Amino acid sequence: MILYGRKEDCTGCGACCNACAHGAIGMKPDMEGFLYPEIDVSRCVACKLCAMACPVTSKPPSDRSPKAYACRNKDDRIRYDSSSGGLFTPLAERILRKSGVVFGAAFDASFNVVHDFAETADDLSRLRQSKYAQSRMGKAYARAKACLDAGRYVYFSGTPCQIAGLQAYLGKDCERLICQDLICHGVPSPKVWRDYLSYRERRSGAPVRAVQFREKRQSWSSPSTVMRFENGKEYRRNAREDLFCRGFLENLFLRPSCFSCPFKGSGGSADITLADFWGVDRVLPELFDDRGTSLLLIHSQKGADLFDCVREELICEEVSPAEALRHNPLALASARPPAAPAQFWETYHRRGLPKTLRAYLKVGAVIRCKRLARRVVNKISRRQNVAAKGSGFDA
Ligand SMILES: Cc1cc2nc3c(=O)[nH]c(=O)nc-3n(C[C@H](O)[C@H](O)[C@H](O)COP(=O)(O)OP(=O)(O)OC[C@H]3O[C@@H](n4cnc5c(N)ncnc54)[C@H](O)[C@@H]3O)c2cc1C
Repeated sequence: MILYGRKEDCTGCGACCNACAHGAIGMKPDMEGFLYPEIDVSRCVACKLCAMACPVTSKPPSDRSPKAYACRNKDDRIRYDSSSGGLFTPLAERILRKSGVVFGAAFDASFNVVHDFAETADDLSRLRQSKYAQSRMGKAYARAKACLDAGRYVYFSGTPCQIAGLQAYLGKDCERLICQDLICHGVPSPKVWRDYLSYRERRSGAPVRAVQFREKRQSWSSPSTVMRFENGKEYRRNAREDLFCRGFLENLFLRPSCFSCPFKGSGGSADITLADFWGVDRVLPELFDDRGTSLLLIHSQKGADLFDCVREELICEEVSPAEALRHNPLALASARPPAAPAQFWETYHRRGLPKTLRAYLKVGAVIRCKRLARRVVNKISRRQNVAAKGSGFDA
């Protein structure tokens, strides 16, 4: 049973489930693999705590005008290991140094994406890098609250709806809580991700050992999807050609609520927003080396104070928010739904993932030739760029 409002508005953040003091709400997957709340009516006492914790029905996000920066980590190792400019790591490390706790998205042992926490710098590596499936929140909000109640600092990272969920669940501003969200394209179905992983495992003949959706050894603007398997085999494909990443970028299997996201364009409710600084080559060419430049938006004094603590570790320059967001359309607008979403899901259930994706992502000869030409041009210009600047990851 779905709780309040329309199913397509539910972001699946799990705030209602975390808030229920009677264990009456569970998060259950639907046919598309997205989690939705389900009430066990025999346990429900109609206290409405769940309704108060829902970020969609309870609180509209506030309008704020952020400060914007183009930034990248001076440490190329961290930048290489991160999806963008490597800002998450130093911000999170500051909180760990205060004996705080950092929450973010990690792979579990079976490569499902889950919200987990880190208390040491070593643990932090599991939270690093973008994972392109909606993360399962589980009881992360309740754990974060317990840490705050114990007087610890908490850095909570997630999508804008997950951050809004945490804040609605807590119901008050907590001095020791830093919330960091992302400019979010939308979140793919965990079920489609699982099916894709199984397909790749079948193709390679062994279980997967490591996954990187955006490996940047070649380039940040044209990254590779890489999977390593237990038998030593490696799958590596330009993300624009990898079936899963292409389906993600074409919005084929995003959560329905992502198509009318209520957390777009308002400045959100986080203290800090992290994103890719798309278009930095045109706005601030001196900060572009195609190895990852982040866009940092600071929304609050707490965010500004934390940024000040790590500034020494970054190369950064302030820009106007309008300039910073010009090439990042999904900062302000929701992803556009595909032409016939119901038909996609019907085909997926009937024919399975690989066949469905191939049918939906057919590429004609002209596009293939254009891609090949673009790859050659990119390779040449990257070589020239690296030769001119003498930079590059020695990974
Ligand atoms: C699903 C998704 C869509 C995105 N869409 C855009 C976009 O359209 N435009 C844009 O500019 N940037 C987007 N980003 C953000 C961007 O790709 C980088 O994650 C961000 O800039 C931080 O990079 P970093 O190098 O500082 O740190 P990294 O170490 O690369 O970032 C890791 C951070 O991302 C969080 N994270 C990773 N996967 C998930 C997930 N599934 N759910 C919630 N949090 C997650 C981790 O908790 C951690 O805080 C998206 C990220 C994700 C996960």
